[in-house]
Formats: sequence, C-alpha cells, structure tokens
Amino acid sequence: MDLYNYSDVIEYLNKNIGFSDEEIYDFKKQDLSDNFKDIFGKYFFFCQTNLLEENQKFNIYPASFYFKNDSTNNAAADYYENGFYLININEGFFYNLYEIFLGDNNLFKINKTLQELLFLNNGNKISVNYLMFQASTLFTFYHELGHLIQYSGMYGKSSNLNNSESYKNDAKPFDFNNHLMEYDSDLYGASYVLNHILIYFDELDYELKNTQNYEKTLSLGLSSIIINFLLLLGKDYKSTKVFYRETYHPHIYIRIFYIMDHFISNSVDEKYEVKSNNVLKSSIDIVSQFFPDGNLILKNLFNSLLNDFDNIKKYYDDIYDGSEKLMYLAKHKQQV
Ligand SMILES: [Zn+2]
Repeated sequence: MDLYNYSDVIEYLNKNIGFSDEEIYDFKKQDLSDNFKDIFGKYFFFCQTNLLEENQKFNIYPASFYFKNDSTNNAAADYYENGFYLININEGFFYNLYEIFLGDNNLFKINKTLQELLFLNNGNKISVNYLMFQASTLFTFYHELGHLIQYSGMYGKSSNLNNSESYKNDAKPFDFNNHLMEYDSDLYGASYVLNHILIYFDELDYELKNTQNYEKTLSLGLSSIIINFLLLLGKDYKSTKVFYRETYHPHIYIRIFYIMDHFISNSVDEKYEVKSNNVLKSSIDIVSQFFPDGNLILKNLFNSLLNDFDNIKKYYDDIYDGSEKLMYLAKHKQQV
C-alpha cells in the first residue's frame, strides 16, 4: 500500500481506525476545479510526506494526515489507543482559507490596502496572497504536529487523546497543561511559518530589502496566523474580555502576543531594526481588511496590555515556566 497516495490512505484508515465512508473527505471524487484539486493534493502530499519522514525522529508511528468531511472551521490531532497518530483538517476550513486568499473573489483583487502589499512579489515565484495561504495552512499543520509530538512523549497514555482547535470545544474544563500544550504547539507552528516567510524575504529583489519591508513580511506571516485564529473563533472574535486560567485554549490576545514576541525575537537580523509595534499594527491592518471589525482587536489588545499588563505578564511567565518543566512538550524535542 502506497501511503503517499490519498486513496490508499483512506482505505488504510478505514481498515485500521474503522472510519465510515462519510468521515473522510475524498477531494479526488468531488466536483472541484482542477486547480483546487491540485491544491488539495499538494497539501495532502506535503503533510503526509512530512509525517512519514518525521516518524522516526519523534516516534510517532503509524501517523497519517486526512481531510475530515466537515464544513466547519476546525483541525485536530488525535492519538488512538491502538497506537495511531492522526492529523486532520476539516475540508470546510481548508476551503475557507483557499477562498479568502486565492478564490476567484479574493480581496487582493479589489482591496487597496492589500494591493499595496503586492509589490512584495518582486523577485519571488509566488504571490503575496499565495504566501499567506501557505503561512496559514502551514501553521495549522505544524501546530497539530506539535500535538502529536507531545502525545508521543506522554508516559502511560492508555486512552484516546484529542486536541481540537475550534473554540467551540472550549466547553471542556480548564486544564493548565492544555494551555501549555497549545502554547507549545503555537510556537512550534509559528517557527515554521517564520522560516518560510524569511526565505520569501530573502528572495526579494535587493532594492526592496529594508527594515520597513522586513516588518511588512513579518506581518504577512503574523496576520495569516491571526486570520486562522479568527476563523476558528467564529462570530465571537469581537469578544473583548481577556481571561487567563479559563477554557481550553489561551485567549486569542495572549496567543497573538506570544507569537509576535516569538517572531520578533527569532527574526533578529542586525541589518534591520524591527519594532514590535510596527509589525503588530501592520498585521492588524491586514487582518482588518478581511474582518471589518479587525481594528477592534488591535484597540482591545492594546487596552488589555495597558490596563492588565501585570496579569498578562504573570500569566505569560507562568506558561513559560510551566512549559520549561513539562518535558513531553515539542520544545524539548526539537533537537532530537
Ligand atoms: Zn492545538
């Protein structure tokens, strides 16, 4: 059986996990444009190849990727009692990300603010909007891979494990270790997005390489991740109250804050003097084009930082310290 082939993966999972035919989305059998089928196929191949190759390094075998037959925005990482590690992304989530960045009516065709970013194509083989699609979908995959790596290090796991990204699942009770796992997976995913966009910047025409464009490139990556979060949050994205030790996922402002911090501290290049505020403002400016009330997020985030800074700092220190001690997190295994 060729596990680089999607039809074989479906058959393999049906046999070993007992999925019904309706649970897995077979893009090959859908009435989709050739272009869109090609994008589904490329993403599957990227994720599946990556999983098969990372198997030995992280002891996540057997592992597989599939698209779930579900039209809502969600992705998940599962461990099954019988030893299987799986990553899935809902076809609806993948479709929405495609529509937003690459669809026939994508905003890059009409929105002035977004069109002003298109000059960052110069020298690159792919367009800015394609880069954002890649950044957002790469983040999803590597965030979930982070969870699989975490599961692999858990001693004595005897039952199924699941991390699902929709905020609707935040009905689950608060567990600080879950926050640590989300934090760890967020940084794991953000590191790969950062690498990807820095390569993109590196390929820009020489005369475009300056601090302002470096900040803009970082904000393309950060805004792609924020858009991903907002889709997972759904209509609740305007909710303002920051929380700390509550719900399943950390609050979106906290996630934006630590990912930005990770971006800035890991993108140090002595040639450019990057300012966090510029990256954050420019990211929210991009996000606001997709989400009409996006500026509210910036306003609320800055207000929270101003009014609640001590609590945010304390919580952030707690998750950092906690993550240093939780040895099954991906951050402790990247050098393996
Ligand atoms: Zn997660």
